Amino acid sequence: MSSHFQIPKTQKAAIVESNDAPLRVVSDHPVKQPGELAPGECLVRLDCSGVCHTDLHARKGDWPVPAKLPLIGGHEGVGIVVAVGAHTQDSPVKLGDRVGIKWLAYSCLDCEPCRKGIEQSCEKGKYSGFTVDGTFSQYVVSYVNHVTPIPSSLPSDEAASILCAGVTVYRAIKYSNTHIGDWIVLPGAGGGLGHLAVQYAVAMGLRVVAIDTGAEKKNLCTKLGAEAWVDFKETKDLVGDIKAATGGKGAHAAVVTAATGAAYAQAIDYLRPGGTLMVVGLPAQAKLSADIFFTVIKSINIVGSYVGNRQDAREALDIAARGKVKCFFESKPLSALSEVYEGLEQGKIVGRVVLNMTD
Ligand SMILES: [Zn+2]
Ligand SMILES: [Zn+2]
Repeated sequence: MSSHFQIPKTQKAAIVESNDAPLRVVSDHPVKQPGELAPGECLVRLDCSGVCHTDLHARKGDWPVPAKLPLIGGHEGVGIVVAVGAHTQDSPVKLGDRVGIKWLAYSCLDCEPCRKGIEQSCEKGKYSGFTVDGTFSQYVVSYVNHVTPIPSSLPSDEAASILCAGVTVYRAIKYSNTHIGDWIVLPGAGGGLGHLAVQYAVAMGLRVVAIDTGAEKKNLCTKLGAEAWVDFKETKDLVGDIKAATGGKGAHAAVVTAATGAAYAQAIDYLRPGGTLMVVGLPAQAKLSADIFFTVIKSINIVGSYVGNRQDAREALDIAARGKVKCFFESKPLSALSEVYEGLEQGKIVGRVVLNMTD
């Protein structure tokens, strides 16, 4: 299929050549031309891309599995389909559609995990900005069956961070075995993932105990609908405070995104019997050490939840498009990516950063 879009030969892109070398932002990176796309591939001209903590791990190479090198990172991209590979059958997207690129770039749709709806754990999965080039460039190659349609009422920059941060917390809450009126604990509630989690939980009828620190984050969480607040730096008894906030019984669920094992172990103590611990964080190194005795006698569920599948992504975007969830972000140019990484490393980024790819 040819394209009526003008597609340049080169583009701006941020390239990681090695884990130690400085990030290079170039303007002469080749654009894969429509005639070079394989069946099932599409070319997306990006409006913007969010920056996720995972991008920093890929850039540093500190995960147990290394990213490809050289690498273009990024997996929260939104843009327009400007070409579809020739001989693509039954494409669910067409030229001019606005779509999102998420962490899972491709799955086979046929292995057992794919058939069971956990395509993010596909045996042949490809990951944007990790095993295939991602969205820190003006054009990205993706797959017609895996790009996510963006609702027309949702601006691209507001949709960007829903594609990873939003989907991740939305799915974790969705599978937390909670029902309307139940209590859910959200450690890190004032952060990038956390502030989205508070809004999804409230939209789903749950009662939120927000854990974080400082007046600014407390105000944000309260404004977003959290009913109880625990400052982890000020409290002398975090477990006791959560139990007190939840009528003495403990919470029904916790969605833990922390990078340390301690936050997971604590959750076993503050969950009520039958409660569910959703394990979401992807630290470079950390072990989950739960007290086996209390996990058993309290019938605690411990569930790993990894981003989301195509359906989770559509649901998370739909809720945002209806105004129930809004991402707090700051826009920056692609050339600012190195500083953004430094800010992430030092924990100085409030909300999310979305890179504008059009200037
Ligand atoms: Zn991410
Ligand atoms: Zn598969």
